[in-house]
Amino acid sequence: MADDKKLTTRAADFSAWYNEVVLRAELADYAPVRGCMVIRPNGYGIWERMQRILDDMFKATGHVNAYFPLLIPQSYLAREAQHVEGFAPELAVVTHGGGKELEEPVVIRPTSETIIYSMYAKWVQSYRDLPILINQWANVVRWEMRTRLFLRTLEFLWQEGHTAHATHDEAEEETRRILGIYRTFMEQYMAMPVITGLKSESEKFAGALRTYACEALMQDNKALQAGTSHNLGQNFSRVFDLRFQSVEGREEFAWNTSWGVSTRMVGGLVMTHGDDKGLQVPPRLAPIEVVIVPIFRSDDERAAVLGAAHRLRDELGSWELPENRRRRIHVDAREGMKPGAKYYDWELRGVPLRLEIGPRDLAASQCVAVRRDTGAKVPLPMADLAAALPALLEQMQRDLLDAARARRDANTVRGPITWDAFRARMDGPGGFVYAGWCGAAACEAAVKEETKATIRCLPDPEFQSTPAPATCLKCGASSRHEAVWAKAY
Ligand SMILES: [Zn+2]
Repeated sequence: MADDKKLTTRAADFSAWYNEVVLRAELADYAPVRGCMVIRPNGYGIWERMQRILDDMFKATGHVNAYFPLLIPQSYLAREAQHVEGFAPELAVVTHGGGKELEEPVVIRPTSETIIYSMYAKWVQSYRDLPILINQWANVVRWEMRTRLFLRTLEFLWQEGHTAHATHDEAEEETRRILGIYRTFMEQYMAMPVITGLKSESEKFAGALRTYACEALMQDNKALQAGTSHNLGQNFSRVFDLRFQSVEGREEFAWNTSWGVSTRMVGGLVMTHGDDKGLQVPPRLAPIEVVIVPIFRSDDERAAVLGAAHRLRDELGSWELPENRRRRIHVDAREGMKPGAKYYDWELRGVPLRLEIGPRDLAASQCVAVRRDTGAKVPLPMADLAAALPALLEQMQRDLLDAARARRDANTVRGPITWDAFRARMDGPGGFVYAGWCGAAACEAAVKEETKATIRCLPDPEFQSTPAPATCLKCGASSRHEAVWAKAY
């Protein structure tokens, strides 16, 4: 139910606004164990849409799903030195089971490279067994100290793809293919524009050769890493003895990739599209695309208007329709609640389109569509709805992406920038800054120390500036890479 207290505005306190939207739109709630969250139906419905769409994309590119256990022998984590160093501080370790102390403690997976590659080692003998292209949908636990609903929680839901290939180049191609899938999903479904590129050595995944990432800019001008794809090289296959006999008959170690996106994307969606009225869900991800609010005074009017609303829902939302023609429609038939209160409630929950139907609309065989993004009201003849609704929703989908891209670009700085101007930018408005980097970890660390900004990625060619920056932002030496800097979640 809507409560009447106004939301904190984004301008007043972005962080408070975010928490209020997540709680009041009933996306999630705090759980008894600190740092855990309950994902409520409104939030889980968005996650389910994300899952279904991504799962189709993975399967269309040859991947299959499997499931590996939650519990991993602690010794497995320790085998890859960088990996254990990266994850040790966040591990949840089970020491007792069935009332007894375990001989070897087991960890709750923080990620599944170790268990999965140890199994692949059993399954792979020859090049004919490759590639393996497996994904799993799962929960993982990382014992984080500072948590935020969806953005950083002790336990979160994600997918993790784990592949094994015969050559470095095949693994690299896979890593890049998945990055492309993530980018397409984020832009075309989440309406969230991203920059893709390579992570610096200090920011890459623990145990990877190379990490690529999708980076989005939130409305408070902080970056959100929304998905990563890693070329793991042969690091894990050497540790877990994942070998195969090549075509030439040589024993070789396989090449691995891993890649994931998580429920963090729901937080990214809130911070990309939400406004001072609440959440905005892009139509393609909305569990409810269209809410019908009936308007009536008398019982007779109520019966007529509700009857028409349910007929529309049955016609346009029938499960018998093919999925691409089926609209996800909800009729708000709640009693004792004024239409205005219902509007407020659905705006808070971010449903893209509201259809108002009153007695006068019925008489004219029309309804009034109200867009969540612009508030624009469009009268639509009932007879045209089957064609008009998808067109309107797709228009909104495009408009949301355009608006998000325009906002990001307006908060992005390119071209020569002095160190003082950079500092002022990071102390002030924030945003993305494209600037040169000499490649030295010391410069990267100094920038982070002094401004909290990090290298979000070394952008892919289509995002790079021309001309390329000539000098390093920090030390003034000649630049080896263009880097995108920002403060980040
Ligand atoms: Zn430098």
